[in-house]
Amino acid sequence: MLSTTQLTEFDREYLWHPYTSFTNPSPVFPVRRAQGVHIELADGKKLIDGMSSWWSVLHGYNHPAINKAITDQLHQVAHVMFAGFTHEPAAKLAKTLVEITPTGLNKVFFSDSGSVAVEVAMKMAIQYWYSQGQAQRTTFLALKQGYHGDTFGAMSVCDPHSGMHHLFHQSLTHHLFAEAPSCKFDEKFDERSFANFSQLLQRNRQKIAAVILEPIVQGAGGMHFYSPVFLQRVRELCNQLDVLLIADEIATGFGRTGKLFACEFANISPDIMCIGKALTGGYITLAATLCNDKVSDGISNGKSSVFMHGPTFMANPLACAAANASIDLLIKTDWQKKVARIETQLKQELEDCRTLAAVADVRVLGAIGVVELKEAANVAELQPKFVELGIWVRPFGKLVYLMPPFIINEQELRQLTSGIKTVLAPMA
Ligand SMILES: *Cc1c(COP(=O)(O)O)cnc(C)c1O
Repeated sequence: MLSTTQLTEFDREYLWHPYTSFTNPSPVFPVRRAQGVHIELADGKKLIDGMSSWWSVLHGYNHPAINKAITDQLHQVAHVMFAGFTHEPAAKLAKTLVEITPTGLNKVFFSDSGSVAVEVAMKMAIQYWYSQGQAQRTTFLALKQGYHGDTFGAMSVCDPHSGMHHLFHQSLTHHLFAEAPSCKFDEKFDERSFANFSQLLQRNRQKIAAVILEPIVQGAGGMHFYSPVFLQRVRELCNQLDVLLIADEIATGFGRTGKLFACEFANISPDIMCIGKALTGGYITLAATLCNDKVSDGISNGKSSVFMHGPTFMANPLACAAANASIDLLIKTDWQKKVARIETQLKQELEDCRTLAAVADVRVLGAIGVVELKEAANVAELQPKFVELGIWVRPFGKLVYLMPPFIINEQELRQLTSGIKTVLAPMA
């Protein structure tokens, strides 16, 4: 076993972490184990998790039901190629996903990560039009301030300027970007906020394969919550002009926003939907792309009838077993009540942050609480202060945000919100 000093040394010497410098990395905290909402560090300090390990941990860490599902599956088969074989965890999961996602999404394609699920969605849309004899339709219409992942296709539909990938701009396929929805979630809808999107779609419809967007919550692109009417208008116009709609629910899926899927706020169903992150309850990487009959039949009956994608670890049985257990837990427990309780408490307790000098805005939707600062936060400086207070909060740009596991109790959540106030209060 490595000593903590060795661990830290090896990490510094050999490892890259997300979005960090290799030569001048920000500090990392060695984790020994995690249980429920607590992440335990090597020195024994326990942190209350405010991040759900990036939207993914719903039922807490080390959950007996998910542990058992994976262990049972491990003794059957850990992995088997998905070409020419099938297995119960995948078949069961696909059926469940079709049942719980918006009506009409009837076919499931499994892949390894959210970004790949977005690549698959984009390929489905392109191949759909190819099959219809409209091979020229390869452009996507996305939203500014959107985020869809880190691989090349996904990067090409992320916000081209403020997004994390602008330095790759020259090597990306250029798509179309509509103004981000300016009408906020709880505001009365202003039709003018749809004008730019509408104009772009109408002008370019002949070359557009699909619209791709994050429904209701624009996540890593700024944590903005927009009006469900905007999403309704998008669906209506896509229907009218016969353009496919891809909903990226990778962050919003599985109850995080207060609905099982954010599309439900607008009562719409996309043609293609991507899910990931919370799919396995934060246990193992797994993602899926679902589509409706129009897309699957369109591809199958067309010029190129075979959908051209097939990851090595497609529908990994351990991951599918974890997902089945996680979704079971979610559906069986009263998740709506839990999320509503978190939402109420976040609204009450984060509201005070509004009066702090460093704070520009406070907003809450479902189990997502956002404190937007006036200036970008210095993570290297803030992070140790949060850890000192026994909480795990990881600021990002101007955003200090909370999205705790649904099992968090009132007192633990209060520790998170008051920790944020304590750390932000002295900032100018
Ligand atoms: C995180 C995220 C992705 C990418 O998922 P990975 O699993 O990190 O590849 C794509 N879209 C949205 C909306 C996300 O939040």
